[in-house]
Formats: sequence, C-alpha cells, structure tokens
Amino acid sequence: SGAGPQTERVVTEEEWLQKWEMGNIGFHKEQGHPLLRKYLDVLLNGRSGLRIFFPLCGKAVEMKWLADMGHSVVGVEVSEQALKDFFSEHSLPYCEEPVPEISGGKLFQSTSGNISLYCCSIYDLSSSIVGKFDGVWDRGALVAVNPCDRQRYVSLMISLMEKNSSYLLVTVSYDPNKHKGPPFYVPESEVKSLFG
Ligand code: SAH
Repeated sequence: SGAGPQTERVVTEEEWLQKWEMGNIGFHKEQGHPLLRKYLDVLLNGRSGLRIFFPLCGKAVEMKWLADMGHSVVGVEVSEQALKDFFSEHSLPYCEEPVPEISGGKLFQSTSGNISLYCCSIYDLSSSIVGKFDGVWDRGALVAVNPCDRQRYVSLMISLMEKNSSYLLVTVSYDPNKHKGPPFYVPESEVKSLFG
C-alpha cells in the first residue's frame, strides 16, 4: 500500500511529559552529537552571530555549545522539567515569563539573554512570535513528530527560516516493522518530498 507500519502511531504530549518525569529519556546525549561537530561548518557557512533554532529541544547540550560560540539559540519543548534541567545542569541563571500570544506558554531565558527556550507545543509557534532563523539543528525532532503531523511540522519549519538559512537534519534508518518508534523511520524519499 505504501503506507508504512508507523503512519497511524501517535505519541501524545502527556506521554512525552511522562517520559521526562520517569527519567525515560534515552534520547538525551550528554556528549553532544558528533554529526553537529562534523557538519558545523555547513550550518554556519562562514557566518557568525546567527539565530539558531532547536525544535523539540529537550535539554540538548548542543544549545550550550552554540551559545558559547556566540550564536543566539531558541528552542521549543513541551516539558518544563527538561528546560529547567537544561539551565540547572549547565549552571545557567535564567528567568521565566509568560508568552502572551500562547495560552499557558512560558519563556525561559538565560540571564545573559542568548538562550531562549519556549515551553509550549511547537505548533503554537509562528514567525510573528519567534522570528526567523539562520540555522536549524533538527535531531530527534522530525523523527519524534507523529507521522500524521510531518507535513504540518515541515511547513512550519520552512516558515521559520530566513532566505539563506541552513538546516541540519538527523534521521535514523531501520526496519519500521521491527520497532514502533519514536524515533520514527523517515525515509530519504519522504524527507525530499516534505521539504521539496
Ligand atoms: N532534540 C532533543 C530531544 C529529542 S526527544 C535531543 O536531541 O536530545 C523529542 C522531544 O520533543 C522530547 O523532549 C519531547 O518532550 C518533545 N516534544 C514532543 N512533542 C512536542 C511538541 N509538539 N512540541 C514541543 N516539544 C515536543
């Protein structure tokens, strides 16, 4: 049929919050991703002081790396615990404020101002709230989005990109009959049709 075994699968926000609560976060990597190191030059493309977006950011340590390099980092994550853990694990002071445009949304911002993490669903964001980005680090994001929401997710991401922005995407390849995901299997042909 062409419809993969995972197309109907849905992981709710509540289930993600539970994973964080239970410490069931095998996706988090303390070491930082080797592919970001490897392709950093592609992301930056000789530019400095970029605005870089981390969709579905969790407490990714790469946010700290890029901020330390002088870039300005924006992330979005449904788990407040993840965001608080991020700041406390890096001993970064932060402040917290409501986001008027998003009901229940909160912004956690490092006191130094270069890391801004939104606690809400990514689908609550728009360029009028967060602006546009010069670069995107998508690891554990497209592959974590429910398969039925992929097109919506990608359209949103495209709307958040500046003209000359670069987008690094990490996917995983495996037999989708053997695991239910997430991470979901997103074949390269689908990446191409989603992003055009
Ligand atoms: N990118 C991170 C985390 C990957 S796991 C890393 O590399 O470590 C996916 C994360 O997305 C989880 O932390 C989950 O809580 C969050 N999430 C799931 N659905 C979301 C949504 N609709 N909006 C924002 N965050 C979401």
